[in-house]
Order: sequence, then C-alpha cells, then structure tokens
Amino acid sequence: MASIFTKIINREIPSDIVYEDDLVIAFRDISPQAPVHILIVPKKEIATVNDVTAEDEMALGRLFTAAAKIAEENGIAASGYRLMVNCNEDGGQEVFHIHMHLLGGRNLGPMLAKHD
Ligand code: 5GP
Repeated sequence: MASIFTKIINREIPSDIVYEDDLVIAFRDISPQAPVHILIVPKKEIATVNDVTAEDEMALGRLFTAAAKIAEENGIAASGYRLMVNCNEDGGQEVFHIHMHLLGGRNLGPMLAKHD
C-alpha cells in the first residue's frame, strides 16, 4: 500500500508543497513543532534508514541540497535549523517512508529531551 507521503507526491491528498524536483519533494508538516517545520521526502518509497541502499545515495544526498535551499527561502539559513531523520520505534518514526524534518524559526534547545 502506498505511504501517506506517496499519496502526497501523487496529489491524492493535499499538502502545502514548498519544493519539488525529480528526486525529492518537500511540504509543510501537518502538525508543526516549530515556526518552520518542513518534511523533505525522496520520491522513492524507502521505509526506513535500515532499508537504504547505495542506489539511493543520489536521492538522499538531494535531501540536503533541498534542505539548504528551503532554509534560505524560509529565512532561517543564518539563524540556523535542525535536520532530523527518525528510524523505527525508539527513533519515534510514525510514517514509514523516509523523510527529513527541517525545523527552525526559533531556538530549538537541547538536541534531545532529558530523561532519567
Ligand atoms: P516521523 O515521526 O515519522 O519522523 O514524522 C512523521 C511526520 O509526518 C510528523 O511530524 C507528522 O506530523 C507528519 N505527518 C503525518 N501525516 C501527515 C500528512 O498527512 N500531511 C503532512 N503534511 N504531514 C503529515
């Protein structure tokens, strides 16, 4: 079954798309955790980082090129931002189609929440 992000890529469900090229697409997160929260997604449906192969290197490298461009366009390149990729349960992954979170627009604080 197609992932929810493949449905976004295919315009089967709506989203606020901010960038698209031959390999990746980027759209605003439906539940933003920061003033700028954009998901950058390879068009190829790869479930998790564990499923990445060498042939995906071009598309996954493009995530960074797109991130830099989108950060600049959203005015957060100089102030800074965080790029995050979650994997499986302990990583907090909810959508099993690899994606990079681009978060910024405020100071994001420590990298991880503190736990005992
Ligand atoms: P994960 O936890 O898998 O790294 O992140 C999944 C992200 O996808 C979450 O931040 C969630 O808010 C976002 N998300 C889930 N469903 C949709 C959707 O239908 N549209 C958009 N734009 N974002 C979604």
